[in-house]
Amino acid sequence: MALLTLSDVTVRFGARADARTALDAVDLRIAEHEIVCVLGPSGSGKSTLLRVVAGLQHPDGGRVLLDGADQSGVPAHRRGVGLMFQDHQLFPQRDVAGNVAFGLRMRGTARDERAARVTELLDLVGLPGAGPRAVAALSGGEQQRVALARALAPSPRLLMLDEPLGQLDRGLRERLVVELRGLFGRLGTTVLAVTHDQGEAFALADRVVVMRDGRVAQTGTPLEVWQRPASAFVARFLGFDNVVPATVSGGAADTVWGPVPVPDGSPQGERTLLVRPAGVRLGDPAEGLRCTVGARTFRSGRVAVLLRPAGPGEAPLLEAECGLRDAPAEGQAVGVTFTAAEVVVLPAQEGQDTVRGAPVVAKELS
Ligand code: ADP
Ligand code: MG
Repeated sequence: MALLTLSDVTVRFGARADARTALDAVDLRIAEHEIVCVLGPSGSGKSTLLRVVAGLQHPDGGRVLLDGADQSGVPAHRRGVGLMFQDHQLFPQRDVAGNVAFGLRMRGTARDERAARVTELLDLVGLPGAGPRAVAALSGGEQQRVALARALAPSPRLLMLDEPLGQLDRGLRERLVVELRGLFGRLGTTVLAVTHDQGEAFALADRVVVMRDGRVAQTGTPLEVWQRPASAFVARFLGFDNVVPATVSGGAADTVWGPVPVPDGSPQGERTLLVRPAGVRLGDPAEGLRCTVGARTFRSGRVAVLLRPAGPGEAPLLEAECGLRDAPAEGQAVGVTFTAAEVVVLPAQEGQDTVRGAPVVAKELS
């Protein structure tokens, strides 16, 4: 049985005329010991989702079950879930130990037991002996660890984290996310985290749930979502820019960049095509799609190269990926061919229309 089940959960804010649907019939199941990360842009409903599970937000429809038990009549403090808020919300007037002990004190845990648990947790999060320190004197990363220790102290059956590493700088974030994953694995904690940062989600999670406008856009392991984004929205959200309308026929797609080979068994007809940068091969300018090399961006040992297709058309820029030594110089002319294995055929985009064979992408409805 799932530890957490959300079925058909809907939350609306505001009066009927200008109501906003923050969560729209969301279904989600989390197994015990699983680490699930909800990933979505700002405003997609992530915090609302956590608040509904925590019992801080009443859903307008649907049910939340913990261990199979309906939570509709259960107040927040009886649900046995821990929520670490986006901005930590540490108590500035209490020292570190006082913050970590907060949930235990609320439950009436005896003083000795509380002190022992605080020591244990501060060791666990890498802040041994920090109990008497003032929280205001801690760095951002240290505050983050205190907030985590505080959330873990009452041993919640489900730990929920709202943008857990959002405010930290990149280097620290990358280190902490690896530490967190190790820690949760050792403790066997069931975790539901939410973030707008794909790197964080993919590094932390066993399973990723991508959200858009209060709906689940895709669920899968990090590898599945990364390799096979379910839609143009997910692909773009993951940072892929080579996404264009296409007409697929047999083993090739007709696109603004000319014919692009697609994997065997790809769906046919009007679609959207994702070409991963690794599938954009640069060669002799006489072959394939003629392009001029534009900007180059260096990314830890690889080079992202932006290519401007030649000709009077409106073909969008193409992003390619090269090794440091193979990267062509800015302004150089190249011929582009494509590798089918790095091409993904996605459903036609909403609002995509075809006028006399020319694909027209309607503006996204906001
Ligand atoms: P996220 O955490 O993904 O950024 P939220 O869950 O905070 O998204 O918000 C989802 C949507 O619901 C947004 O449009 C937001 O403006 C709206 N919303 C959230 N909380 C409230 C509230 N208390 N009152 C009115 N609208 C809200
Ligand atoms: Mg939020």
